[in-house]
Amino acid sequence: MPELPEVETTVRGLAPVLEGKRVARVVTRRADLRFPFPVDLGQRLVGARVTELGRRAKYGLIGTDRGDTLIFHLGMSGRWRVDPGELGAHDHLVIETAGGRTLALNDPRRFGFVRLHPTADLHDYPPFTVMGPEPLGDGLTTGHLLRRFEGRAAPVKALLLDQRIVAGLGNIYVCEALHMARIAPNRAGGRIALFRLERLVEAIRTVLQAAIAAGGSSIRDYARPDGELGYFSKQWRVYGREGEPCGCGATVRRRAEGGRSTFWCPTCQRG
Ligand code: ZN
Repeated sequence: MPELPEVETTVRGLAPVLEGKRVARVVTRRADLRFPFPVDLGQRLVGARVTELGRRAKYGLIGTDRGDTLIFHLGMSGRWRVDPGELGAHDHLVIETAGGRTLALNDPRRFGFVRLHPTADLHDYPPFTVMGPEPLGDGLTTGHLLRRFEGRAAPVKALLLDQRIVAGLGNIYVCEALHMARIAPNRAGGRIALFRLERLVEAIRTVLQAAIAAGGSSIRDYARPDGELGYFSKQWRVYGREGEPCGCGATVRRRAEGGRSTFWCPTCQRG
């Protein structure tokens, strides 16, 4: 599932293709993904110039000079193909620029979606209204976590996955950051020492930045018609590594909770 670093990589990959370019043609090849495509998508995009690309949490943002922002979410399996040549069965939305470039939003499982929202009111887009700070922005500080975790008996892992506390963190990077910060995933949020929260903020940034940096090298691959978006599994410290040795020599454990798994090292993560 694309997480924040994959969305960031996607946005960086799309920027050179779209930024400053005029949209010449928009084709929806089916009526919906997770939600119906906006009926006036083509009407509002064709002729518009793309002014900027951005990201909020796991949402990609394509701003235009017509006052609209196209918001895309990659769901479980979405990716943009650049100049794909031949379109495939799962290329559901096609955007052509006046410069002759083609982008296809490919999504076999169709959990992704596309919205148009006035750029000036982007903060009013419902998922954004209650979202916490970006993990790579200035808003994520030790003080922020201290305030939001205060008195909370919920496991720190659940608190970090709460988008109202920090935006855009998913299961993989929360497992990774907790390991790096040496905090047990089930530790009550309100019972974490200040120095560990400091370490946690640092760890969140480090694991995300490392993943984005690894993705940077896959932008080239990504730009190929059949290029897969990179998932940076080789770098994972604990995620997906149940039964394998941690760096400390202990064995990485897994616990299933709901639909998710928590991976951690019982020796390193005692805080
Ligand atoms: Zn360990």
